Amino acid sequence: MLLNKLEKEFGSKFVYDEEVSKRHIQQLKCYLIDPSVISLSKNPIGLLKVKDKEDIKYLLEICDLHRIPIVPKGAGTTNFGQLILFYPSILIDMQYFEKKVELLDNNYVRFSAGMKVNEVLSYLRKKGKDLRVYPSSFYFSTLTGFISGGSGGTGSYQYGYYFENKGFRWAKIIGPKGEYELEGKRALAVSQASGTNGIILEAELAVIDYEDWRDQLVKFKDLESAIRFIKEVEKDKKYVRRIAIEDKDTLSIVMKGKIETDNWNVIISSTKSYGEEIDSLKVIETLAGSGIYVMIRNMKIFYNYSHDALMHIPINKFYNVIQPIKKRLGDKVLIHGDVETIKGEVIIDTTIMSEKENFDFIDSILQKEGIKVPFKPPTIVINEWLNDKEKLELMRELKKMIDPHNILNPGKLI
Ligand SMILES: Cc1cc2nc3c(=O)[nH]c(=O)nc-3n(C[C@H](O)[C@H](O)[C@H](O)COP(=O)(O)OP(=O)(O)OC[C@H]3O[C@@H](n4cnc5c(N)ncnc54)[C@H](O)[C@@H]3O)c2cc1C
Repeated sequence: MLLNKLEKEFGSKFVYDEEVSKRHIQQLKCYLIDPSVISLSKNPIGLLKVKDKEDIKYLLEICDLHRIPIVPKGAGTTNFGQLILFYPSILIDMQYFEKKVELLDNNYVRFSAGMKVNEVLSYLRKKGKDLRVYPSSFYFSTLTGFISGGSGGTGSYQYGYYFENKGFRWAKIIGPKGEYELEGKRALAVSQASGTNGIILEAELAVIDYEDWRDQLVKFKDLESAIRFIKEVEKDKKYVRRIAIEDKDTLSIVMKGKIETDNWNVIISSTKSYGEEIDSLKVIETLAGSGIYVMIRNMKIFYNYSHDALMHIPINKFYNVIQPIKKRLGDKVLIHGDVETIKGEVIIDTTIMSEKENFDFIDSILQKEGIKVPFKPPTIVINEWLNDKEKLELMRELKKMIDPHNILNPGKLI
């Protein structure tokens, strides 16, 4: 009955065949931190390819009346279980939504929810501008999906997470009870909220001048020298867009043997000259953060793959943590680190990938050095991976106001 009504209203924009479920499960399998939680996901009732605000408004009205859950979706690349459907839900596909983008007073860019990260980047770069921070999934994910599901990436060395220091200042959202414009701190309530407290229609992110960043490789025989180099570079921070550290095994796999590596490799994107400029190193930009473990897991290098990710290791502790792990496990462990400035402190956002059975040992070293593993897979609700009480409170307040019947991605925000 409801399906007929939606089909009549939306025509071919509403799809509810088996392909919708199949594709949704496939995406979860590909990108989730721990695909074992897929069994918790119910099938989508259908998927609406929304073109404009009126489509969303009408769907929200019907679904609120009948208490049917709705989950917005961009490119579906999110990793922490945000798109696991706890209840049969209607997916709103935002990729067909109108595309608008505008540079405001040279400092912010306003864009609509249909814009991919890459599309906003090309628009800005034509004007000599760049996003402060964008995810390594920039080539296929949407920018509002990044706001609602992500946090860091290229640019996090200089600017931390995109929402720090007024990186994200405004959003226009819609929910079952109407439309709202959120500014400043209030806007933060929709960042990392997984579509639980409003569907973002438009948003504004801070921009910077685009510069001629060149990707360079600086090789080291030992970890101590690589760390010393990273520390030295800090005085030139404003010239450095991105900096990552990889052990030999990881970089060789990622570059498929196309470049010569050493035991430790620092990849630095800078306007200054530090090492060998290598064009094909651009690929590393697509592998920061979750990009790397998605790739390594899907390559099935390990028989029983697992990883610790998003560990913020202070530079001064990196050697004590990583050296014993690498020494004992050799090529049975892969190390990737994105150097970032989070809340003013330079840390190495580290991913350690290995066989599951090695994680008792790996975790014992982390524990000995006082490094918190922020979460262990699986993660299925926001509270498991977002360790920020103030922000969770902001999210809950907005949710209460905008979605009293809890139809927007229900169950994710506790
Ligand atoms: C290879 C790879 C690399 C990645 N690199 C990074 C990285 O560097 N940094 C990082 O932070 N993340 C990263 N991620 C995680 C994820 O890709 C990003 O968060 C991404 O930007 C999400 O965009 P998306 O369009 O795929 O959103 P989706 O995955 O479709 O959605 C993400 C969340 O946002 C919600 N949502 C989508 N659109 C809207 C909207 N208009 N309004 C409200 N809610 C909405 C969804 O319900 C979902 O909860 C990576 C993932 C992969 C697979």
